[in-house]
Amino acid sequence: LNRRLAEFGTTIFAEMSALAVRTGSINLGQGFPDTDGPEEIREAAVRALRDGRGNQYPPGPGIPELRIAVAAHQKRFYGHLGLAYDPDTEVLVTAGATEAIAASLLALLEPGDEVIALEPYYDSYAACIAMAGGTRVPVTLRPHPETGAYALDLDELRDAVTDRTRLILLNTPHNPTGTVLTRDELTAIAGLAVERDLLVITDEVYEHLVFEGAHLPLASFPGMRDRTVTVSSAGKTFSFTGWKVGWVTATPALVSAVRSAKQFLTYVSAGPFQYALAEALALPDSYYTGLRDDLRTKRDILATGLTEAGFRVYRPTGTYFITTDIRPLGETDGFAFCRTLPERAGVVAIPNAVFYDHRDQGAPFVRFAFCKQEKVLQEAVGRLQLL
Ligand code: PMP
Ligand code: GLN
Repeated sequence: LNRRLAEFGTTIFAEMSALAVRTGSINLGQGFPDTDGPEEIREAAVRALRDGRGNQYPPGPGIPELRIAVAAHQKRFYGHLGLAYDPDTEVLVTAGATEAIAASLLALLEPGDEVIALEPYYDSYAACIAMAGGTRVPVTLRPHPETGAYALDLDELRDAVTDRTRLILLNTPHNPTGTVLTRDELTAIAGLAVERDLLVITDEVYEHLVFEGAHLPLASFPGMRDRTVTVSSAGKTFSFTGWKVGWVTATPALVSAVRSAKQFLTYVSAGPFQYALAEALALPDSYYTGLRDDLRTKRDILATGLTEAGFRVYRPTGTYFITTDIRPLGETDGFAFCRTLPERAGVVAIPNAVFYDHRDQGAPFVRFAFCKQEKVLQEAVGRLQLL
């Protein structure tokens, strides 16, 4: 393994899911739903396979039906904020959000460019910045001592920008903290990007999992439409993490740049799933609100159970993750805690420290996923009371 990648090893998600299987534990570590997405959409994929749609290389930018559906989705949910995209030139289908992020960084960074990312950050960010020869510059999100809400220190963000900064890699709703950046925070980020002429890659895969208020796409803020690469994924919105279909929306020039990288990573993305997801994106509003309401109930079950078990819970306003502080349990090291949790309680969680460059800052935080059936969450919560 070369020097660029040597520090990354195996992803924590694979490691902890293997631990869950080995110990027969309830897996609240890796974020994937334990029930699949809509039956009718699975049927649509079967139909596409059977009818021979997408069984051979689909078009590089994605099949027209899916690009049209993505553009229609942006207009339907964000048109009132002034956002609209042209399906032919401003949408690119990718192999999940993971490839969208990788291709965007590979396409837009010169070696030595600095990338500002909110810490704790999703693990692929650091690896992809490294693969692109960039330098990551973390800006740490910290929980407010009283409210427990994770917030961005805008002065720290401003101070992180240098002459070498090329772009900000944003994520809202935010994994692993479950925080949703506020209008004020997004306004400040947009102002800074315009002032310092930065690009922004914004990972909005949890756009439909916002439990209080509404998701605000960064691209809708003043001056941002032309400098923002927006990333989303069918994995989260339709509970098909195994299908690995995501998409990018941006200006023609940015989409064309990202496509240049994508064509040499995967060339194209899986065909039949694209036909099915074109139908998924057109599902009625009740699908989207149903998903959100279901996960809100699950959030409440897990948040209450974790609080009763003695964790300090940072109540998430978005995503399907809860970050907790284990210090009230007399623990300080999230890694050690997560390694022994299967034996002690038969539950698997993720140590947030892996999402930090400043590992000490993340040491006492542990993430639990609640995209699981209620009975599974109840069982996990019951087991955790024994700690
Ligand atoms: N970004 C974030 C913040 C995520 O949580 C995930 C999924 N875990 C991804 C990107 C990757 O999405 P996909 O599975 O579509 O590649
Ligand atoms: N995004 C999911 C999580 O944060 C897992 C993705 C993965 O395993 N790469 O848990």
